[in-house]
Amino acid sequence: MSDRSYYIAGNWKMHKTRAEAAELAKALVAELKDGKHKYLVAPTFTSLETVGPVVKGTNIRLGAQNMAAEEQGAHTGEVSVLQLKDLGVQTVILGHSERRHIYGEDDALINKKVRLALRHGLEVILCIGELLEEREAGRAEAVCETQTVKGLEGVSAGELSNVVIAYEPVWAIGTGKTATPEDADAIHAWVRKVIGKLYGADCAEKIIIQYGGSVKAENAAQLMAKENIDGALVGGAALKPDTFAPIAKFG
Ligand code: PEP
Repeated sequence: MSDRSYYIAGNWKMHKTRAEAAELAKALVAELKDGKHKYLVAPTFTSLETVGPVVKGTNIRLGAQNMAAEEQGAHTGEVSVLQLKDLGVQTVILGHSERRHIYGEDDALINKKVRLALRHGLEVILCIGELLEEREAGRAEAVCETQTVKGLEGVSAGELSNVVIAYEPVWAIGTGKTATPEDADAIHAWVRKVIGKLYGADCAEKIIIQYGGSVKAENAAQLMAKENIDGALVGGAALKPDTFAPIAKFG
């Protein structure tokens, strides 16, 4: 890869009590203290207040897995950007495939969240990725292009420096099936080209594009050796220090 730095993020999804989350965070702080890459953990909302002080001042950022599209108001069950910032959250994952496909979030809603998060100074990890049937129909590039273009509508070139894209083919998430490094790199290159068309070559060169989908210690280095793969968004393997640390410390 170029002079982009690697960024390894752990999405803990709907796992762990506060005590378990604190234990994992403490172990990762110790394991990664000499790590050379950029790191993030994204616990469940209920564990953010517990994990925040554990990672504060370390090389691990605090991330949330989602947020509301509105700043505040009558939105029962939602969590706002102001509340996340109050907890010290620095980054928010938006458009995860589980949000898109289980909870019906569409590109317009995700875009609203992206713009709101950026307006409040949060870093955004915007997830994109095709379903298996879309890949089999030869539509992977088109789907990823649409999700990127629509997800970033109204985002300025200045704001883009606070955006990370995570390419997560839906068929590879939590399934044990990983995209080959070549297939993943081809989509990353395509998305980088899309960013180039929208924002120019300099932004395209700089944007971090993570890969996600059954990343493990055994495949992390091969994936990240590819020119356009700048890190990983890790689900299952992020839940234990023994499986996350070797990915985070690759290279
Ligand atoms: C994810 O949900 O972002 C993910 C990549 O999960 P897994 O690593 O378990 O496939």
